[in-house]
Amino acid sequence: HEKIELITRNIRTFPDFPVKGINFKDVCPILKEPSALSAVVDLFEEQTKQSFPQVDIIAGIEARGFLFGPLLAQRLGVGFVPVRKKGKLPGPTVSLSYALEYGVDVLEIQEDAVTAGQKVVLIDDLLATGGTMHASCKLLEKHQAEVLGCFVVIKFKDLKGEEKLHDYRVFSLLQC
Ligand code: IMP
Repeated sequence: HEKIELITRNIRTFPDFPVKGINFKDVCPILKEPSALSAVVDLFEEQTKQSFPQVDIIAGIEARGFLFGPLLAQRLGVGFVPVRKKGKLPGPTVSLSYALEYGVDVLEIQEDAVTAGQKVVLIDDLLATGGTMHASCKLLEKHQAEVLGCFVVIKFKDLKGEEKLHDYRVFSLLQC
């Protein structure tokens, strides 16, 4: 697939970032290459129209879900809302804490981000263990939204993120 090749060419790997032993996938080159960015949005748009035509809201996960999410939402003619780390969003929020390997983290949405019954597609750049995406799904459900599916540009196959997300429909453009 031509678009997949274009996207693949615009992702690079940094070994030992942010800490030793992590092979960090950097999606910044996609943003710098308009044709690659269009390809990402095209493929997510196609997938949404095929699988989730009833979508009401795109929810992007901090931080790189914010780069792709609003572009997809605009294409689809629906709204975008951010899922953020604790303490970043003003006004009333709904939050959910989830376990990390060491300690816990907290994700939040604004209370008026979604209304009960709204159908949401979540988006992030990358799925590793699936912990962040899973917590984001649970957060939206805590606020009575319905999660239709989860989109990522890259999925790490060996980290079993998809197992953690077995209750959800996950679509990734690339697997590595
Ligand atoms: P998970 O919760 O283990 O699935 O990690 C996914 C989250 O960490 C996402 O929000 C990603 O943006 C971020 N992340 C983890 N590894 C990478 C990487 O190699 N490149 C970019 N983001 C990453």
